[in-house]
Amino acid sequence: MSEKRRVGFIGLGAMGSRMAANLLKKNFDLTVYDVRKEAVEILAAKGARPAKNPREVGMRAEVAVLSLPSQIEVSNTVLGENGLLEGLNSGGIIVDTSTIDPSTARRIWLKAKEKKVGAVDAPVSGGTVGAEMGTLTIMVGGEKETVDACMDVLRAIGKNIYYVGGPGSGQIFKLLNNMLVGINLAAVGEALVLASKAGVDLKLLYEVVKTSAGNSWAFENKLPNMLEERFEPGFRVWLQHKDLGLALNMASEHLIATPLLAFTYAMFESAKALGLENMDHSAIVKVFEAMSNTKVSRYKPLKPQ
Ligand code: NAD
Repeated sequence: MSEKRRVGFIGLGAMGSRMAANLLKKNFDLTVYDVRKEAVEILAAKGARPAKNPREVGMRAEVAVLSLPSQIEVSNTVLGENGLLEGLNSGGIIVDTSTIDPSTARRIWLKAKEKKVGAVDAPVSGGTVGAEMGTLTIMVGGEKETVDACMDVLRAIGKNIYYVGGPGSGQIFKLLNNMLVGINLAAVGEALVLASKAGVDLKLLYEVVKTSAGNSWAFENKLPNMLEERFEPGFRVWLQHKDLGLALNMASEHLIATPLLAFTYAMFESAKALGLENMDHSAIVKVFEAMSNTKVSRYKPLKPQ
């Protein structure tokens, strides 16, 4: 029997492929699955074992990590036919790094518990760069002893690991984080279009605001994408839209008015209607451009006075 810890990974997209590669580097015995064969082949070439369905991942893994688009894929993958839960032995642990709604996370925890399998929700922040560097922030919800039992796997993919409470709590933190990201990003897009019309040197604006009170993660990291029209993902518009929708559901459950969130959700809805769904979320600037019939890059920067 192999002495290496047996880990599974399902969902080898922008985030998952990079997290899985880090697990291989950290010498875990890795089994992988994705509906896209080419994604599996890339990891197999690096030393991972391919599986033909989530059940097979479960049969080989002590800890199974997920990085899937939404709660629909997560539910089907874990609870469906030939699903992960069918394959996992008692004592196994599911670590879901996807961003989904807190109630699905709790449902999965309960279903897993019936089989004496542990489940933690462990959504991540830090984008594809953080996934690649292994520096992600991870917001972990679940039973404390389950979280402790998979800490080695969490440490292999992330740097700032926060235990934030019981099952579903990680997702609550993550939705609040992504609500802030979306609102800040929309603010940057709006300001940039206004700055263009006002004839501002946009690169100088970037330098000045970076050291001023208007700075934010969105401003610092995403304004360059907007300026240079680099919209390859990254974090896709449709994923940002999905997370804002989940945050809106949460607000409605708690009867809380969230006008900024509602506005930003509508802006990302427009972004999807404009066909931008697979671009990086910084492409939200294009919606503000469309609203004012203007384009950021059309304006030549003025020399500073
Ligand atoms: P992605 O679309 O690039 O990757 C998703 C992967 O899941 C794809 O490889 C796809 O083929 C695979 N997949 C889809 N359905 C499947 C199924 N039924 N079974 C197996 N594989 C399936 O998405 P991503 O950007 O990597 O995001 C993954 C998750 O992480 C999402 O929940 C997202 O909200 C979250 N997230 C993304 C980022 C980011 O910057 N991209 C950052 C933090 C969190």
